[in-house]
Amino acid sequence: LSDEISKFFETIPLQKIEGIGIGAPMANHFTGFIEDAHNLPWHNNINIVKLLKNNFNTPIVLSNDANAAAIGEMVYGNAKDLDNFIVITLGTGVGAGIVINKKILLGASGYAGEIGHTTAIIEGRQCNCGRKGCLETYCSANGIIETAKELIEKNNDSLLHGIQNLSTIDIYNAAIKGDKVSNEVFNITGKILGYQLAQATLITSPSHIFIFGGVANAKDLILNPIRNSFYNNLLNVFKSSVKIELSGLPQGNAAILGAASLVL
Ligand SMILES: [Zn+2]
Repeated sequence: LSDEISKFFETIPLQKIEGIGIGAPMANHFTGFIEDAHNLPWHNNINIVKLLKNNFNTPIVLSNDANAAAIGEMVYGNAKDLDNFIVITLGTGVGAGIVINKKILLGASGYAGEIGHTTAIIEGRQCNCGRKGCLETYCSANGIIETAKELIEKNNDSLLHGIQNLSTIDIYNAAIKGDKVSNEVFNITGKILGYQLAQATLITSPSHIFIFGGVANAKDLILNPIRNSFYNNLLNVFKSSVKIELSGLPQGNAAILGAASLVL
């Protein structure tokens, strides 16, 4: 990682660098550690801030990737004038950057917002964290593919039959061609996520929830079932005050810009 950063630094004059901001899963803002990141290729705990400080004499700030996305949304995206909002990142995992009174919620441990490991289905699918039924076993990219595989087994007439290494893009492409199974995959995913966001709203009372990440590229296909399930399951007092929208930043950029904003 240091080599990659050094290569990048060679392209810009050193006096113009204000610092290094890092957004990563299971990253702890307080300790500088990335711990137990099930979706990264290494599995031991590493103090990435300390390691990089050996090589770079500049401020280095670490935060969870979903928090970085939320800061990106706040500084550059659709949340510029908002005080209370949540950014949900849908990708390899499912994360939440929660902003309350314009501040990222870190919590006592620094791990606040681990919505991907809240229980969506009691005794449900096995999660990499060792527990069962976590939200990300249904709504991450892998979770969505798993749902598709389950439905394909029960339906003989899907366009998804016979596709090797099925991806969420395959499912999206089939869905827009009218494939019933693929549309059902998005409906099931949105239903579970919307339900869970209704629970999160009870606890944090956001004005907006933004959906970010690769899966958000499915736009209305995923957004409509999320909204349906969300409003059907939301406590009445919140119904007129919470909006669910797609992230306002191009794919990939919110987290990178947010990570950069950590040092500003
Ligand atoms: Zn889990």
